Amino acid sequence: MKIICIGRNYTEHITELANEKPEDPIIFLKPDSAILPKNTPFVIPTFSNDIHYEVELLVKISKVGKHIDEQFAHKYYEEIGLGIDFTARDVQEKCKTKGLPWEKAKAFDGSAVIGNFYPKSQFKDINNINFSLQKNEAIVQNGNTSLMLWKIDELIAFVSQFFTLKTGDVIFTGTPAGVGKVNSDDYLMGYLEGEKVFSVQIK
Ligand code: ZN
Repeated sequence: MKIICIGRNYTEHITELANEKPEDPIIFLKPDSAILPKNTPFVIPTFSNDIHYEVELLVKISKVGKHIDEQFAHKYYEEIGLGIDFTARDVQEKCKTKGLPWEKAKAFDGSAVIGNFYPKSQFKDINNINFSLQKNEAIVQNGNTSLMLWKIDELIAFVSQFFTLKTGDVIFTGTPAGVGKVNSDDYLMGYLEGEKVFSVQIK
């Protein structure tokens, strides 16, 4: 399976990183080796001094498709989840400055936290789902899918122009504002509509 990630999909997050609003969604990939195994701590890699959490709504692809029309995109996913796109922000800034690809900053081992998935029928409106990330005692990120610049169905239509979507592929739909650094001994918990769907110990 592959992981397709969307960058800059929430206005306030674009502002906090002083990025420009893109004309099209920004896409990058993580390999399956990036998935943090369940119940495993995230170990801060030695090549970065600035690992950021980015909580993101996840969409699991349920059938093969290419050039999917937006109006049929809803037929290609049945489950929604929540995860973290761990980012080595210092490495990413270097890559961005030099115009280089982001893989070292975004696709390293353990950089993809994938929580439990839930049937989309459980949600009243896919485009109005609340999610949040708690770090230790405090809620650090609060998002709602209504604030996405590109909605889930638009993202599926867009990315499937470039990549054949296969069963089991996961789309990370971008992070809302509030990203920040993790330190060892931090404890992260993700909530989907108020229900805890993952937790990660940082080491
Ligand atoms: Zn992200």
